[in-house]
Amino acid sequence: MIYLDNSATTRPFDSVIKAVSDNMAGNFGNASSLHHMGVSAENVLKDAKTVILDKLGLDGNIIFTSGATESSNTVISGIPKAHKHSGNRIVTTSFEHPSVENPLRKLEEAGFEIVRVKPPRRDEPQDFEQRVIDAADENTLMVSVMWVNNETGFITDTAKIYSAVKRKNPKTIVHCDAVQGFCKLPAKTLKADLISLSAHKIHGVKGIGALYCAKGMRFEPLLYGGGQQGGIRSGTEPVDLIAGFAEAVRSYPKNAPEMYAELNGRLVPRLSELDGVVINSYNNAKNILNFSVRGVRSEIMLHFLEEREIYVSSGSACSKGKTSGVLAQFGVPDKDADCAIRASFSPFTSESDIDALVEGIADGIKRFRR
Ligand code: PLP
Repeated sequence: MIYLDNSATTRPFDSVIKAVSDNMAGNFGNASSLHHMGVSAENVLKDAKTVILDKLGLDGNIIFTSGATESSNTVISGIPKAHKHSGNRIVTTSFEHPSVENPLRKLEEAGFEIVRVKPPRRDEPQDFEQRVIDAADENTLMVSVMWVNNETGFITDTAKIYSAVKRKNPKTIVHCDAVQGFCKLPAKTLKADLISLSAHKIHGVKGIGALYCAKGMRFEPLLYGGGQQGGIRSGTEPVDLIAGFAEAVRSYPKNAPEMYAELNGRLVPRLSELDGVVINSYNNAKNILNFSVRGVRSEIMLHFLEEREIYVSSGSACSKGKTSGVLAQFGVPDKDADCAIRASFSPFTSESDIDALVEGIADGIKRFRR
């Protein structure tokens, strides 16, 4: 099997499976219990927080959630409720994941002004961050910009946006969906007050994520209950999944950016040689490549590759094969979006996997192109 759909989800590392099952078997206490089993469970949470904060290179707090969808919903619904008089303008991009875009639409319906900044086209000067900064003013409550786009891999320097926005208005809160960049890119282009993370994109388990919160952040919780995690996120902490999350962060190879650059450097020229293949990604994280095979619809190619046990995605896994509106934002014409394939790598991806993909695409073109 050649699994090249790692932006959708990843195979848990063996070390993660072991950490989760060891914890389930030997450390199943409730982190709120006062006896030593509770303390032992709580220590897993503390350790995981340290590991995640170290990887981010930031001080602050980590709140565990069910995933990045919950983290981003918490921010987008909870910040306006806790900051009623800090403005009603929110600056974001036109290519956010639905877990950010859809709660923002709810705010828009409630009267907030949502400004969606478009990405630069491939041949435009790359002034995207400046455009986001320019869109923020003294009435801006929040800026929410993703780090790495899940469909094309487009990278935004959120650290640059953070500093400039704070200079303009220190009260503006900066949120970042960092799901697709975490552990995969050096953290120097990541900075925000609130950061959404997900374990299953980095070889952890599905159903566990985190929200990084800088010191002093205030927002209304999404869930009320037993007051766990300082009352910010009630519900018994899934200590086993959290142990796996920390292990995934620890196990993610430090040289991932270099590995991905090599794989990308092998794939792009080989694909570009094929007749009618266009590369849609630019300014992208090297583990994500979006390209179109003109004349062969995505689903046809995806299932043809599947017969060879090569697994890729047609655009975003979340859009379940629907033509992606996000690709249009990156200047991909509808005709090419219908033929778009996303290949996304992991530390398990080898050069021979890349070669098998190129061969599969070439054979698919011969078979299906009209
Ligand atoms: N943000 C991005 C960029 C994603 O790619 C995804 C997953 O597809 C999510 C958020 C949602 O993450 P989760 O599955 O943890 O809710």
